[in-house]
Amino acid sequence: MKTRLETLILEKIKKVIKHNGIYVPLHHPMFNGNEKRYLIECVESNFVSSVGEFVDRFEKMLEEFTGAKKAVLCVNGTAALHISLKVIGVELGDEVLVPAMTFVATANAVSYCGAIPHFVDIEEKTLGVDPKKLEVYLEEIAEIRENNECVNKATRRRIKAILPMHTFGHPVNMDRLNEVCKKYNIVVIEDAAESLGSLYKGIHTGRLGRLGVFSFNGNKIVTTGGGGAVITDDEDLAVLLKHLTTTAKVPHPWEFYHDRIGYNYRMPALNAALGCAQMEKLPEFIEKKRSLAKRYAEAFSDLEGVRFFTEPDFARSNYWLNTLILDKRWAHLRDEILKLTNENGIMTRPVWTLLHKLPMYRHCPKMDLDCAEDLTSRIINIPSSADL
Ligand SMILES: *Cc1c(COP(=O)(O)O)cnc(C)c1O
Repeated sequence: MKTRLETLILEKIKKVIKHNGIYVPLHHPMFNGNEKRYLIECVESNFVSSVGEFVDRFEKMLEEFTGAKKAVLCVNGTAALHISLKVIGVELGDEVLVPAMTFVATANAVSYCGAIPHFVDIEEKTLGVDPKKLEVYLEEIAEIRENNECVNKATRRRIKAILPMHTFGHPVNMDRLNEVCKKYNIVVIEDAAESLGSLYKGIHTGRLGRLGVFSFNGNKIVTTGGGGAVITDDEDLAVLLKHLTTTAKVPHPWEFYHDRIGYNYRMPALNAALGCAQMEKLPEFIEKKRSLAKRYAEAFSDLEGVRFFTEPDFARSNYWLNTLILDKRWAHLRDEILKLTNENGIMTRPVWTLLHKLPMYRHCPKMDLDCAEDLTSRIINIPSSADL
């Protein structure tokens, strides 16, 4: 008798992670380095808030690791996205292109600026923005004004920026995307929240656009409890980012003078202390996650009906979340597979509800989202912690 696909998938996962019956989360943090030591140091220094050695040190470590000229720490990835949109001049009534398949924070950050997310489709090869489809779409709906601004012909609103997101750590086809965006004068801000440690043609993700944003939330490859960062090679933008995240206070030995409406978005030193310890471990996390992905890829290579997602040839991915993609004919089995694995102590998850399906984003402009709609019913994330 033919064994059902659900069971075969469950067995494959169990074998790869050598499941011993104990519940396996999708992704759990690992604190086996200097985390406790640095936290104690931080507490004993009294500088637990946003001034302190650890904040500067963590920023330096991010600059060294990514190769970016500047890193500016934030309270979380969402705040980092918001402030990035602010500093490049996204304003009330602008449109910002956002992939339909991303975490809700990407679109929320656009809304915080009073701007409108405009949803674009993804491609199956990268799970990120499809640059070719975007180009065809912009040719149809956009025009360039004399002042060089890109305008949506239907809404008459300015299309100021795009937020390509490196889904589950896998890089978007950035060269192609940058070409299209250059042609239309659209600023590229990478939502690299999931891709710390992922390279595109040898360059760290987050360095391929004007700005790149990371998250250090509890489920990310490196965590500070909560936290985020913006990286950039533009030193003037970095100065502005730092200024705006620290209440726009003009430095002075005693005066409180603020020259515009700023934000309290600076990461506290307590979180940065964790970040320093986690960064020391990052190369090891990446190696371990890549080797887990390799084991999954091998295990699933002979199973018909499902494919283990592997990095495109231009990428070196951190494999933050491992991903199975069901063949179209088995899409109806997705929920069965989710049910069976979760009931057997193996946490698996579907991808996010597409953003244009959420009540607050239902009426936003969008292109046809065929690929995203098709893929949502076929994606399953499987356990991905570095120690598996
Ligand atoms: C985690 C994440 C964020 C933002 O994260 P915070 O929880 O605010 O740190 C933004 N975009 C994507 C795609 C993410 O996965």
